[in-house]
Amino acid sequence: MTAAISLESISIVLVKTSHPGNVGSVARAMKTMGLSDLRLVEPKSADICSAEEAISLASGAVDVLENARVYNTLPDALADRNVAFALSARLRDLGPGLQSPQEAAREALVLTQSGVGAAFVFGAERTGLSNEELLVCNRQVTIAANPAYSSLNLSQAVQIVAYALRMEWAAGVQAQADENSLAGTLQQGGRLASVKAVADLQAHWLRAMEAVDFINPDKPKKVVQRLARMLAKTPLEQEEVDMLRGFFSDVIRVVDNRLYPHEFERKKH
Ligand code: SAH
Repeated sequence: MTAAISLESISIVLVKTSHPGNVGSVARAMKTMGLSDLRLVEPKSADICSAEEAISLASGAVDVLENARVYNTLPDALADRNVAFALSARLRDLGPGLQSPQEAAREALVLTQSGVGAAFVFGAERTGLSNEELLVCNRQVTIAANPAYSSLNLSQAVQIVAYALRMEWAAGVQAQADENSLAGTLQQGGRLASVKAVADLQAHWLRAMEAVDFINPDKPKKVVQRLARMLAKTPLEQEEVDMLRGFFSDVIRVVDNRLYPHEFERKKH
């Protein structure tokens, strides 16, 4: 993910919710994770968001309730969305493709980044989403749960999805920061070493280890793999490679000088 990623553009849609307390708790679950777009389809009462219990459970997230929009049908609520993820624990014949919250969150963020509008759709407390409502959606997301009792409270289901979105979003932002810091290194004049330069460094490092008898060249054990894996972890700059190679050259020269002083003297002349 390279362009700016926003959680605010991802919508949470609640279908036929009856308890104002749940709507308040959903608002809180959303705001704590950075979501803000709440949509209600046919709530039990049109003013459910201003009910005392909703406001009380929303706590510091009353703004999410105030900005919530009410729709008559699910398709109406999704008119400006391009992809909808339906939350349901129940498996249906020929339902949409199944995903975990993490998979769905990742897909939603990738799509959002390319300008696609994404929504997560939740069903009513007692009945959940109907087959028709589910088929309006592109994917079905199931939260792994106890098969003997898999129905979470509505706002808790929203919390899990919102958290998955936040985690995936944070991972994307981190990847972006890493990319930037790599770009920063290069902008400051740093030049990344080539794969060949790092392979040559590794060979040099091993020769220095042999010179001081740290490894037996005939039986190097796991050192070669460990060293290769360690070098693969960081993109090294050419200056770092040069510094290490200078150090290994000195190690080898000093050892040679001690072991074969005459040879060394001869080479010098
Ligand atoms: N009794 C309903 C469940 C209602 S729970 C039923 O049988 O479908 C309210 C909503 O929370 C559900 O419609 C769904 O959107 C979400 N939800 C609860 N538990 C879930 C789970 N394990 N996986 C996915 N969504 C879940």
